[in-house]
Amino acid sequence: MKVIGLTGGIGSGKSTVSRYLREKGIVVLDADEIAREIVLPGSDTLNELTDFFGKEILLEDGSLNRKKLGSIVFSDSVKKLKLDRIMHGKIIEQIQKSLQKEREQGVPYVMIDAPLLLETGMDKIVDQVWLVEMKDELRIDRVMKRDKLSEEEVKARILQQMNAEEKRKKSHVIIDNSSNLANLYAKVDQLLLNL
Ligand code: ATP
Repeated sequence: MKVIGLTGGIGSGKSTVSRYLREKGIVVLDADEIAREIVLPGSDTLNELTDFFGKEILLEDGSLNRKKLGSIVFSDSVKKLKLDRIMHGKIIEQIQKSLQKEREQGVPYVMIDAPLLLETGMDKIVDQVWLVEMKDELRIDRVMKRDKLSEEEVKARILQQMNAEEKRKKSHVIIDNSSNLANLYAKVDQLLLNL
């Protein structure tokens, strides 16, 4: 079974590609979705987080108070590192389990949709990295509209991610998404044919 990691900077069109792949019946594991699932009340991961950060990161119903956790790590880089270590390790563990299940089912290939695939080193568990790219002017505009953010806020988020050149070096396939959706889908179709 071939495992493909799908990634791209904020607003590059990664989720659009991932949605299209799912519509075509391809198994897509979504790292963001997994990150939410593994911290549900009663989970090992949530217990590990409360052991480190205290019960103050919980809401009254026992679920994770993301806002509170976010504000704790925002101003403390050591705590942020600890949070990332716990989360990334658990996400990879969960992905490995899902991959094993798909392997047993005889699925020919699986995509892993992960915005931080390269930043977290998750690319080590994939056979190929597909990078979706879009010119900054275009993606800034699209993210401003989608998330109702100012230009400065979008630019600040872009700066937090690995730069485009470094990402390109670590990728096997670059999907240029500077044109329309029909073009994007045609490129993905071609890539699937080549798999
Ligand atoms: P993030 O990592 O921030 O979630 P993303 O890489 O998943 O972003 P998308 O949500 O897929 O990006 O795309 C960003 C926005 O641009 C969306 O509103 C999407 O509908 C739009 N979009 C993506 N590709 C195109 C395209 N080729 N033409 C027009 N609009 C597009």
